[in-house]
Amino acid sequence: MIVMKFGGASLGDADRIRHVCGIVRAHRRKQPVLVLSALRDVTDELIRIARLAARGERAAVERGLAGLEERHRAVAAGLFDEPAQAEAARESIAGLVREVEDYYRGISLLGELSRRSLDVVVSVGERLSCRIVAAALAAAGVPAAYVDARSFLITDEDHGRAQVDFAATNRGLRRVLLPLLRRREVPVVTGFIASTRGGVTTTLGRSGSDYTAAILGAGLGAREIWVWKEVDGVCTTDPTLFPDARVVPHISYKEAAELSHFGAEVLHPRTMLPAMRRSIPIRVRNTLRPDSPGTVITARGSRSPNPLIVSSIDGLSLVTVEGTGLVGSPALVARVLSEVAAIGVNLYMVSMASSEYNVTIAIPSSETARTVRHLASVLHVGRRNGRDVQNIQVEDGVAIIATVGAGMKGQVGIAGKVFSACGRHRVNILAIAQGSSELNITMAVASRDLKRAVRAIHGDVVAPSRDGRK
Ligand code: ASP
Ligand code: MG
Repeated sequence: MIVMKFGGASLGDADRIRHVCGIVRAHRRKQPVLVLSALRDVTDELIRIARLAARGERAAVERGLAGLEERHRAVAAGLFDEPAQAEAARESIAGLVREVEDYYRGISLLGELSRRSLDVVVSVGERLSCRIVAAALAAAGVPAAYVDARSFLITDEDHGRAQVDFAATNRGLRRVLLPLLRRREVPVVTGFIASTRGGVTTTLGRSGSDYTAAILGAGLGAREIWVWKEVDGVCTTDPTLFPDARVVPHISYKEAAELSHFGAEVLHPRTMLPAMRRSIPIRVRNTLRPDSPGTVITARGSRSPNPLIVSSIDGLSLVTVEGTGLVGSPALVARVLSEVAAIGVNLYMVSMASSEYNVTIAIPSSETARTVRHLASVLHVGRRNGRDVQNIQVEDGVAIIATVGAGMKGQVGIAGKVFSACGRHRVNILAIAQGSSELNITMAVASRDLKRAVRAIHGDVVAPSRDGRK
């Protein structure tokens, strides 16, 4: 049995969905279990309309809802020729649209949008796409069954990023899915959404369908988990920016996790854990080129001493907290980090010199104002008695580059090569961090130097690894 996950990008319109059905049919003998996201952009749209509802903008909510219904109807119209099938699809779409309309009405009456309400609102996206695709498979002669993951995927109540109760979930998913597989039906399971024990809808975090696929794969003991994307697999660097990027045929769970924590759009960060625990390979494949092998992710790390991948993220700022109050006061450094975590800001890098005179963090620029305000107030910036922090500096227009590969561990000179590649191409490095896992060398550069730096590292350090990596 194979778990196959398709994201919203692969489900843009009727043609794309027909294509997905063709892929499923081609692998039918492998007993696929499908996990799907909402149709492209639908989650964002549901959230946008929810915010309008909270502001009481009734007309805009109605327009938005009509647009969503029309979009799904058009997809269904392109998929079902037979009047009975078309009618059934229209009805199930209308039913779900009415449901979300009720939620929007509630939100606008209350004038407030909680994370709990948002979860049930966005759940409609995956429920719509899965109903449509299950019907499309059936119409194409592949017996398929719609499965609402809320019937077995149990989480805590942390809405928007709920934690999975694996014991309950694993019992439940076997109960729900094994009978379908025994009847040779293809389960079409909603990604991303889940439920508390008490039946309240939760979600696993944006892009959480990858994680749903891994939970199912691990719980069912699948042979492999296939995550279908619009790219050939995990690449040595971003192929949209650097045409000489190549597919990496094989990486480890830890390397993949390193990339996703860093913010690279490989897989949802939590995806690797369930698969790793049960040693189930994850394969990243391309819907546009279904015959290419893609990238396989297993426990085995890269053997090559060279780094595998150079990945980057732009739009960040460096925030440096400095002052005599930090000296010899590790608790204050810990405090800076935990205060940032407490306000829910993502940290992309932390760097602290051993003088303990300052600590630098990289965060999204959109978060700097709020972060600095918070830190300044809780750390009593500028307090005169000399114990506390004296200064917070912000540097905008920063990008972070991560050079990742398990083979770098214990190798002497890799960091040197990475930095001299930057030096040769006149890239100034603003801050550096290397996790003690030695899987990842992270550095901050000015955004204007980003392309040059990635090209330098890719060309001088990552790309020459070609022959070593077969
Ligand atoms: N539809 C959800 C999102 O857009 C989940 C996913 O795509 O995996 O975040
Ligand atoms: Mg998505």
